Amino acid sequence: MRNRSPHNPTTLARRWTTLARRTGLAVRTLLEHDGHPILAITSPAWDRDEPGDVYLSAGIHGDEPAGTEGLLAWAEAEGRTLRKLPLLILPCLNPWGLQENSRRDRSGRDLNRAWNTPAHPLVRAVKSLLDGRCVRLALTLHEDYDGQGFYLYEPTRFRPPNVWAERILKQVAPILPPDPRKRIDGRLTTAPGIIRRYLVSPSRLAPEPEALYLHYHVAERTFTFETPSEFALGVRVATQVAAIRAALTMSG
Ligand SMILES: [Zn+2]
Repeated sequence: MRNRSPHNPTTLARRWTTLARRTGLAVRTLLEHDGHPILAITSPAWDRDEPGDVYLSAGIHGDEPAGTEGLLAWAEAEGRTLRKLPLLILPCLNPWGLQENSRRDRSGRDLNRAWNTPAHPLVRAVKSLLDGRCVRLALTLHEDYDGQGFYLYEPTRFRPPNVWAERILKQVAPILPPDPRKRIDGRLTTAPGIIRRYLVSPSRLAPEPEALYLHYHVAERTFTFETPSEFALGVRVATQVAAIRAALTMSG
């Protein structure tokens, strides 16, 4: 279909705006970044500050389009039930990167390493939305060009950890089995497809990703989903949808 490229941020924003209108969600432009609007979408339950907040974000790396497409496909399938959840959705945090198929933004910055830079306009704008909120579940959607299956990162403060990650992998496996690698991105997996790290206090020195900011400061549970970007787009999108659905089912 014309303009249905997964790398067209204008079409993506239009589809989200149409969906929001149809399902009763609010859309606002959080800021402009690199000449594109960054949208923030909230449900009535979020705007009323009901408990059990859910944070969903995609597209901070522009060369990982199954995240942005998967989040939209999930929301389109949910339809009006979205209204009942206290939801904050950030459908695409790096639209310029999506358009250019670039991990980084126009200035060459990896926005997923900027979360302990409080002066960064994007980081500041997202943090202002989270001020005083207590997020029950945060999902950040990514892809890996070395990926050989589905995997997730889970920073945790629970010992022993809960079994959410294992359950998400199990739900997703009929669509895409877990990545079989024992070491992913330099880190040993704790089980097939799971990179779990016990983390309780932030490092001031290391550049902070979005997920770790959420884990340390805002969210009870944080997962980063990774699909293999060399696989067919349809499978990767279906995998992201299944993983979002599995995580939300567990969070009640
Ligand atoms: Zn990424």
